[in-house]
Amino acid sequence: MNVYDSVRMQDVMAPLGYQVSETYEDADLVVLNTCHIREKAEEKVYSELGRIRKEKEEKKNRGGQMLIAVSGCVAQAEGEEIMKRAPFVDMVLGTQSYHLLPEMVTKAIRKEGKVIELDFPQVQKFDLLPEVTSSQGVSAFIAVQEGCDKFCTFCVVPYTRGAEYSRPMAAIVKEARALVDHGALEIMLLGQNVNAYHGGGSLADLIAELANINGLERIRYTTSHPRDMSDDLIAIHGSEKKLMPYLHLPIQSGSDAILKKMNRKHDAAFYLDILTRLKKARPDIALSSDFIVGFPGESEKDFEATMEIVREVGYASAFSFKYSPRPGTPAAVDQYQVSEEIKDERLARLQALIAAKQLAFNQSSVGKTMPVLFDRDGKFEGQLVGKTPYLQSVYIQNREHLRGTIADIHITGGYANSLTGDIIEPLLRKAS
Ligand code: SAH
Ligand code: SF4
Repeated sequence: MNVYDSVRMQDVMAPLGYQVSETYEDADLVVLNTCHIREKAEEKVYSELGRIRKEKEEKKNRGGQMLIAVSGCVAQAEGEEIMKRAPFVDMVLGTQSYHLLPEMVTKAIRKEGKVIELDFPQVQKFDLLPEVTSSQGVSAFIAVQEGCDKFCTFCVVPYTRGAEYSRPMAAIVKEARALVDHGALEIMLLGQNVNAYHGGGSLADLIAELANINGLERIRYTTSHPRDMSDDLIAIHGSEKKLMPYLHLPIQSGSDAILKKMNRKHDAAFYLDILTRLKKARPDIALSSDFIVGFPGESEKDFEATMEIVREVGYASAFSFKYSPRPGTPAAVDQYQVSEEIKDERLARLQALIAAKQLAFNQSSVGKTMPVLFDRDGKFEGQLVGKTPYLQSVYIQNREHLRGTIADIHITGGYANSLTGDIIEPLLRKAS
């Protein structure tokens, strides 16, 4: 979501003549777009600001000027506090205010004091943003839903992103067409609770509508909540070929007692039943999840239930985090906090299990031929990286002509986090 928001800020600033700069030296404006989901992400903001301050001073010594803006969820949560801790920051803008950036920059240039915008005029933001002007390349994001009304007891999202809001379907289809015109082959629909989408139709209705766009080859969506996994959404995984066979559906914990304390509004059986129905609709669907270890009150038995879910589901990939107490959330003041040592130890065990499942999934791809979308460069000379329908990364060597295309690839190697492969036709076809 932050990547998408950053691209939209580029679109907002483009009419004023601003372009993306590769270096700090060239930058007249630095926007630090921040994440507040865990404490570690928040700490990074202040250390990064320290670095940007030096760049600002050096630019001043050279006779130039650099404005600094802090945006995103840390800006929303901390507001004026950021200016207190980092007085060299010129602007603080919350998650619903980035359409106001040009106005804020003008005020900051005129030195009209500190410029802060933290309101939640949600409907306005999307309505007031300019049409998409920047290309996002072959793989693009669109925010379709924002905010959350679920209030899981560990989570800051309902406070930093605000109430749940769905963009109207027509506006999304228009944005998708513009992105496809700019070269997108794949679109990832984004929302903190994307399957709660209800902008004049369900998420399944929106996917069906987008699938009609010529030139759009792949549709994905993230992140979903088990409670909103409706029948039509499950069904469309079986009927719509452009919808990729991959679902990120976080369960957080395998223990019903912990799920209840988390206010997740579902138990493990409810979640597993969704997966069964999904696999019936689309047998090859690859699954992914988020897990939190060391939530307050988590016993060894609760943790074992999480391990059991991973063993049973056999995820293609998964993210796991140590519980991080967030200011203002109910779980942060729970008296039964789990020690860091136990959190570390459980996280290590869970990650080892996830890694083994991921490796097994990737190895099961070896020998298969899959369509791969080559959307980025690898670290090494002549290397391209692409995505399988199951969101695995595929590395390929010396096939420059495949950049930005979808090609059938023969998978030759399966590793913990990636695959290797090569094209089958026409270069590797045996002479008959
Ligand atoms: N809406 C999604 C999740 C969005 S937040 C859902 O309901 O599943 C992304 C992930 O960050 C969550 O799935 C959760 O695993 C993790 N997360 C959120 N708050 C956290 C916290 N306080 N400590 C550790 N992990 C957290
Ligand atoms: Fe956070 Fe997701 Fe729960 Fe909403 S549903 S409060 S975004 S974890």
